Amino acid sequence: MSRFWTDKIANLDPYVPGEQPQDKKYIKLNTNESPYAPSPKAVSAMQDMVGSDLRLYPDPNSSSLKKALSKSYGLEENQVFVGNGSDEVLAHAFMGYFSGGKPLAFADITYSFYKVYAQLYSITPKIIPLTESFDIDVQDYQDLDVSGVVVTNPNAPTGKALSLDKIESVLHANPDVVVLVDEAYVDFGAGSAASLVNQYPNLLVVQTLSKSRALAGIRVGYALGHKDLIEGLERIKNSFNSYPIDRIALAGATAAVEDAEYLREISEKTIVTRQWAAIELKALGFQVLDSSTNFVFVTHPEKQAESIYMALKEQGILVRYFGNKPRIGEYMRITIGTDEEMNALIDALRALI
Ligand code: PMP
Repeated sequence: MSRFWTDKIANLDPYVPGEQPQDKKYIKLNTNESPYAPSPKAVSAMQDMVGSDLRLYPDPNSSSLKKALSKSYGLEENQVFVGNGSDEVLAHAFMGYFSGGKPLAFADITYSFYKVYAQLYSITPKIIPLTESFDIDVQDYQDLDVSGVVVTNPNAPTGKALSLDKIESVLHANPDVVVLVDEAYVDFGAGSAASLVNQYPNLLVVQTLSKSRALAGIRVGYALGHKDLIEGLERIKNSFNSYPIDRIALAGATAAVEDAEYLREISEKTIVTRQWAAIELKALGFQVLDSSTNFVFVTHPEKQAESIYMALKEQGILVRYFGNKPRIGEYMRITIGTDEEMNALIDALRALI
C-alpha cells in the first residue's frame, strides 16, 4: 500500500474481471464474448478508417453512431448517449444520477461492477435479494426510499429475464428517481425496455456492442432515454473526456448497428446453440437456469464447481467460476460458444462426470 493512498483508494474493493489469459489459446467460455466475428461491414469500415484520418480527433458527439442507433430504435438522436463500453456509461450514470445521498437499489446477485461504482462514488447500496429461484421479485421494488434503481435484464450471472410489464411496475413504483435497466444481454431472447423510453422520463436503458454485436474489442456502449436524462450524461462525460470513443471504434460501431440482419443472424445462432447445449448439460446431471442470454448458469449436485472449473482449464477450456461466494459458489457461468466449442465442452464434461 502506498503512503500516498487516500482512504478511498485503500478501501476500494476493485472489480475482478474474468480471466483474459495471454499464455495459450483456450476455448474461451468465461467472459461472454461472441464466438463469431463482427459484421463484415463493421470490419471493413474499421479497415478503411485505419487508412484514413487517424491524425485527427474523433467526432466528440459520435454523431454517426447516434444517428444509426436512433434510427434503429425509432428515437431522436438526442435520446442516445455513447460511451467507452457500457461500463463507462454505467459509471457516468452512477455518478450523475445515483450519488444524491439516498441508497441505490439493486439485486444481491447481479453484475458486480455496480458495487464498485457505488463505493467509488460514495453511494450506499440497498441490496435486494433474489428469490430462492434466482428471480427478481418486483414486489420488492415497490416501497423504496432510494436515489435510484438498477435492474439488470436479463440478469447476470443468472441469465434470467424479466417481462416488460414487470419492468413497468418498477418504473411506476419509482417515478421520481432514475430506473436504469442494464440490457447487456437483451438481444439473446428478452424484450427491450427501449420501446418504453418515450413513456417513462425516468427510464435509462443501457446496452453494449460487446456481446450480441461481437465487438467487445472496441469498447462501445450506449444509453437510451428521455432527452433530459441523456443531456445529463453528456454533461458528466464532457467533464471527464470529450472523446469517449475513437475514430476506429466509431466507424466500426456505426456500421455494426446499421447491419441489423447480421445481428439477427448471429444472435439466433447463439440461441439455437444454447438450447441444445442446455439439454446436453441437463443430461449430464447439471441444473441449468433458464437463460435469455449468451451464457448458462449451471450447478452439479454431485461435483464441486471449483474442481470442474480447474479440470476444464487444464484441458484448455475456460469457464467462469466465482470463487467461494454465498449462493453462487457452487455455480459456473458458461458462455455459449460455437457448436464446435460447445461439443468440446460437453465431451470434456462427460469424461469428468
Ligand atoms: N452490464 C453487464 C450486466 C455485463 O455483464 C457487462 C459485461 N461484463 C457489462 C454491463 C459491461 O459491458 P461492456 O463494458 O463491455 O459494454
